[in-house]
Amino acid sequence: MTAKKIISLFLVLVMVGSTTTPVIATKIAENKPIPAKEKSELHKDIEIIKIDPNLENLTPYWIIIAVGSEEKGRLTTFKYIDTSKSLKDYEKEELKRFLQELWKKYPVKTIRDKKSTLVTIESGNEILLTEEDKIMLERVAMAVNEYFSSKYEIGILWNVDTHQSVAFISCKKWGESDYYCGITRDHADDPDYWTQIPPPPGYPEWYWNFIMQVVHSWTHYYNPDWATGSAPSECKYYANVAKSKYSSGDKYSAFQNLGYASHFITDVGNPLHTGLESWQTVFSSIHYSYENYISSNWESGYRFKSVIENNWYYYPISNPEQATKDLATYSHQYDDTVFWTIYNNPNTWQNDQNLRKVTENCLLETAKYSLGLIKYVRG
Ligand SMILES: [Zn+2]
Repeated sequence: MTAKKIISLFLVLVMVGSTTTPVIATKIAENKPIPAKEKSELHKDIEIIKIDPNLENLTPYWIIIAVGSEEKGRLTTFKYIDTSKSLKDYEKEELKRFLQELWKKYPVKTIRDKKSTLVTIESGNEILLTEEDKIMLERVAMAVNEYFSSKYEIGILWNVDTHQSVAFISCKKWGESDYYCGITRDHADDPDYWTQIPPPPGYPEWYWNFIMQVVHSWTHYYNPDWATGSAPSECKYYANVAKSKYSSGDKYSAFQNLGYASHFITDVGNPLHTGLESWQTVFSSIHYSYENYISSNWESGYRFKSVIENNWYYYPISNPEQATKDLATYSHQYDDTVFWTIYNNPNTWQNDQNLRKVTENCLLETAKYSLGLIKYVRG
């Protein structure tokens, strides 16, 4: 980069800084958080995709069968196979023949109503996969992961920056100082670096892998259908520590623990931290790609951060554990939609407006609960 370019880039940054910061500061000075009377969503025109949950847990490969309902899904799956660098040409042909048979054997139907589409198999069919089928499907999954991990930068955790940003913005809205909000912000991502907690004994190996590899810890996840994961109780624990420290005047510790508590509630604002366990174990690269999409559209692109900045509503919270469960229930309704959209649109999912709306709706709910959590701690 030439010196001139560096200087002009610097000027642009200074200008951006000087025009946006005072605007936000004025907003904070003029506005106060107000209780949300009802759930008002940012986008009401979201198309929800539900992939028959009765089949979801029979096999993690159900998505590959489900996409057979449409030509687009079939061609996309072939594309994953064709672009694989580790599959040999004859293996690719073999896999495609296998899939054609599989899709014939398990015809899939979609049931549409006004707001949602349900993907299920024709009645009377059961999915019975042989060991050989599973080996073939595993190869397809490998090709999908190969595609996503080579194309979308992998490795940024959802929320490393998001957690900090949500915590800081929410804290400032209650009129707390930069110093104390900074403490909350600086500790909001800490739990991602704590010792990972595995699921309790008795779960199958794939589930163990989901917890330890995909969501990193039993504490960073909650599935409202199964009541699995301990994000709600973690949030409750740290919120209560923060509350008692705040009332005893130990503000440093109060804001530190508030940062921890906010981490756990923010985690379950991500639909992929609330379910789809078996799929995400097999197609882990889709999970990472989605997290990366949110991070890279945080400050620029769709600027998801503005959803948090523009919200002034909060949910009054009397029980942080229940609040975390409620947020998880909200975002969980979208987990299939997120996964399905990414799988079926390997090149264009980042521009998909339905996916953007889903993400913004989840962030708006996260913002309301985060504001509520701070109010809970401050009393
Ligand atoms: Zn986390």
